[in-house]
Amino acid sequence: MISPSHNQSLILIVDDTPANLTVISEVLSNAGFDVAIATSGERALEQVRREPPDLILLDIMMPGIGGFETCCRLKADASLQIIPVIFMTALTDVENKIKGLSLGAVDYITKPFHEQEVVARVKTHLELRQTQFKLQRSEERLTRTLSSLQEVVWSAFLKPFEIVYLNSSVEAIYGLSPQDLISEPQLWLDRVEEHDRPLIQKCLSQPPTCGSIELEYRVLNTNGEIHWVHCTAKIQIDELSQQFRIDGILQDISTRKLIEQKLLYEAQHDGLTQLANRSFFIKRLSQRLNAYHAQGENQFALLFIDLDRFKNINDSLGHGIGDKLLIQVAKVLVEAVRPNDLVARLGGDEFTILLDSVHQEKEVLVISNRIQKKLQKPITIGTHLLTITASIGIVMGSHLYHSADDILRDADIAMYQAKGAGKACHQLFRQEMYERTMHRLYLESELRYALDKEEFFLQYQPILNLADYQPVGFEVLLRWQHSELGLVPPDEFIQLAEETGLITQITEHVMLKACLQMHDWQQEYPSASHLSLSINLSSYDLQSPSFMAKIDEIISASNLNPGNLQLEMTESSLMKNDQLSLQSLKLLKAKGIGLSLDDFGTGYSSLSYLHQFPINTLKIDRSFIQTMEPGLSSFEIIRAIITLAHALEIDVVAEGVETAAQVEHLKMLNCEMGQGYFFSKPLSATAAAQYLQQH
Ligand code: C2E
Ligand code: MG
Ligand code: MG
Repeated sequence: MISPSHNQSLILIVDDTPANLTVISEVLSNAGFDVAIATSGERALEQVRREPPDLILLDIMMPGIGGFETCCRLKADASLQIIPVIFMTALTDVENKIKGLSLGAVDYITKPFHEQEVVARVKTHLELRQTQFKLQRSEERLTRTLSSLQEVVWSAFLKPFEIVYLNSSVEAIYGLSPQDLISEPQLWLDRVEEHDRPLIQKCLSQPPTCGSIELEYRVLNTNGEIHWVHCTAKIQIDELSQQFRIDGILQDISTRKLIEQKLLYEAQHDGLTQLANRSFFIKRLSQRLNAYHAQGENQFALLFIDLDRFKNINDSLGHGIGDKLLIQVAKVLVEAVRPNDLVARLGGDEFTILLDSVHQEKEVLVISNRIQKKLQKPITIGTHLLTITASIGIVMGSHLYHSADDILRDADIAMYQAKGAGKACHQLFRQEMYERTMHRLYLESELRYALDKEEFFLQYQPILNLADYQPVGFEVLLRWQHSELGLVPPDEFIQLAEETGLITQITEHVMLKACLQMHDWQQEYPSASHLSLSINLSSYDLQSPSFMAKIDEIISASNLNPGNLQLEMTESSLMKNDQLSLQSLKLLKAKGIGLSLDDFGTGYSSLSYLHQFPINTLKIDRSFIQTMEPGLSSFEIIRAIITLAHALEIDVVAEGVETAAQVEHLKMLNCEMGQGYFFSKPLSATAAAQYLQQH
């Protein structure tokens, strides 16, 4: 559409009186308009079609179709009706003026013409028309813009709910056209997902009168798809109707919501088993604990589950199988509890279960048993049939707890107790366990500094030949003198040293010190040159790759004959890794070092494998010696051990000999050596030197 501008505006003057045409033409030309003329209505219509003017001045009284009819025809033509028509009429002709206006004319000018009035009216109407044009164009632009938006723009009256504007984007969300919704505004609410509906309802029925509204809700569209939308809206009082009006924008945020939900899920779940992860579990446990404190209703319980020997499966069959097993275990656990209970994987082979509502310990023990039974059923993974057991620690919810971490810690402690009690069982947490664990942790940290702080010292217990009571050697026994705890017995710290990996360092320290000591004694007492020095080894020592080299180093540093060195190992430590142990023992034997089997009878007590190990001495555990009585079975067992040992050319040492009667019995059984309080308690280095001097 052409927008008229003053200077180029074309005015058509229609009049059958030439004088009028001349006068007005002159006036308008002088005012700067382009002017066209027509002398009848018919001509005017032809001309308008040929070259549409910006305004028409139309005489009423003309021969032919006349002014009114000309106006009617113009207004009937959609492309022409927009051209403003001003009638020219006599001053007194009121009726005609009214008729003209009713036919669509915008104004009239009265004859005789006043020059300035004609120009003023023409100008006014051209300006009006131009304004109208601008308005129309901006409206068109606005509609185009709104319908190109992705956002839904909407406006509605609230009481009653009536949609007054909606752009076409609404269709993508609702599956309904703006017209559908405008004609049936109830759909606007009905399509909102059931759970979110009250939110919107409240907002529409009790609109906040200030500030803007921000809502997120789900819309169920006509295809059955859920769309998440974000709505920003403002309530206003409509100026015209004085009603509440709401204007808003809806944004489809489904993609963002999906990503958010996925991220949230991933942040809360274990990727392998899809169980809750540690942080989510702790959060839920905290919430449960808080609710328990607040309401004091149902008790809850925590199970801490650690698979037994899972590492073996992982190491021997590979992580792929290990992972599949964990997934199966997760399923078993979920199936073993109620839907309200939360099963989580903390990491590795550690699982936890929050039993949401339990009443007493007995109930929890039943559940633990059930879990253990279900877990023990063989699980097939590929071609493997795996049987797994678990150790379970149990904590009952209690008002004494104030943090989820504490509950988890205690469940972990109880689980370790279950491991210690032989695995495949459960243990209910008790306070002493905590104290014991704390003590252990304390010992552990202290043990790390014991070597540097020189808190270790050695004692030497003589081993004697029963035939002449002459010493044949010393067993080296480690002592730990702690600044606060006093003397800590080896039974308390050796295992700890093994678990913390400190043992190899400690063994090397003991060996070096004892070898140097023995070498000193050999210099001082020539009779000591044939004495053996028995050092206790841990199974971890044999597994340490640098152990052999270390022994060579110590032997050469101390200048001791390897033949003087005797290494003691228990049956169980040998059995831990018999292939590796056998290899190491053979190497040691080849160096000329003697090997003793310590505490014989307490472990596997199997005589059948005795010949497999290259040992030269067997030490019968003191528990046998102390119950030894002719006629009792222990007596016969010892006889059998000694007989077999001798058949294999292995010497026998009786440990823990405390009485003369025991010595007599041992002699009767041809046991050649003894060690025990009856002969001597473990001695300090100085006391051992004196002992050597006396014998
Ligand atoms: P073990 O090797 O069987 O050591 C003998 C234990 O029996 C020693 O206890 C000793 O003091 C005790 N004993 C000796 N004669 C008698 C007796 O007549 N009656 C009684 N009731 N006990 C007697 P200790 O020194 O407490 O050592 C306990 C265990 O600690 C040792 O048993 C040994 O397995 C381990 N151990 C000691 N020192 C070391 C060490 O340097 N390294 C390693 N790896 N283990 C050590
Ligand atoms: Mg020993
Ligand atoms: Mg022993």
